[in-house]
Amino acid sequence: MTIEDRTRGVDALAELFAAGPVAVLTGAGISTDSGIPDYRGAGTPPRTPMSISQFSEDPAYRQRFWAGARIGAIRTAGIEPNAGHRALARLEAAGAIDGVITQNVDGLHARAGSRTVVPLHGDGGVIRCTACASRFSRGEVLGWFDLGNPGFAETHRDAEIAPDGDAVVRDVAGVRVPQCPVCGGVLRPDVVYFGETVPPEVFARAAALVSAASAVLLAGTSLAVNTGLRLVHRAERRGLPLGVVNRGPTAVDGRPAVRVRIEGGTSETLTALAERLR
Ligand SMILES: [Zn+2]
Repeated sequence: MTIEDRTRGVDALAELFAAGPVAVLTGAGISTDSGIPDYRGAGTPPRTPMSISQFSEDPAYRQRFWAGARIGAIRTAGIEPNAGHRALARLEAAGAIDGVITQNVDGLHARAGSRTVVPLHGDGGVIRCTACASRFSRGEVLGWFDLGNPGFAETHRDAEIAPDGDAVVRDVAGVRVPQCPVCGGVLRPDVVYFGETVPPEVFARAAALVSAASAVLLAGTSLAVNTGLRLVHRAERRGLPLGVVNRGPTAVDGRPAVRVRIEGGTSETLTALAERLR
């Protein structure tokens, strides 16, 4: 895209904000510039994320999960929100957007300063007990992992990092999986896995943001996940215009409600938009 094209695109995006606050839906594409790879982005090999049935039924899967989470935490310790996350926080502070609905579980919107964030797929930083529903921070549980597996983190730190930020550790025989300290139950991340549905109260919050908005901006998402599309359908039924910023095709390309389609990165586009609306 030339600079002129981008300027025209950002001008058109800015027009979406003329009628009042806009709801924003983000996906993996907004976090790639922070160093978190995208499951579906252009040029990335296809991956199969963990499903909840594997997690619940296969103890070896849970060993792989916690081993991967431990090494992933070392390797992703330096990950920070990027210019796209920060631009959305500024737009919210300026009253231009009413909140961010995100399909990401990386917590980067909140860290960038966004106040109203609806994490459709949960928060990977929170671990909950499947038996008694106690909640713990991921860091806390990884500390228990280290106590149960002394030396493991140091000897496996070179493992490959998967798109969810966790590492792919192949040798997990003998890994001791942390358990709930309250009841001994199985611990799991407080995220929506493939095969699970978004909690109704979370979807309702997202739907309320869309219903209160005058337009919807889709940023860094290909809309491959059903919940995101349901929100788009809701916006379309209300006659709301859509703006789309993404690298690569999306499931809504060509639909009449899409008034602006920018093929490009969220960092540069949202930064330009925040400047334009200042
Ligand atoms: Zn428990």
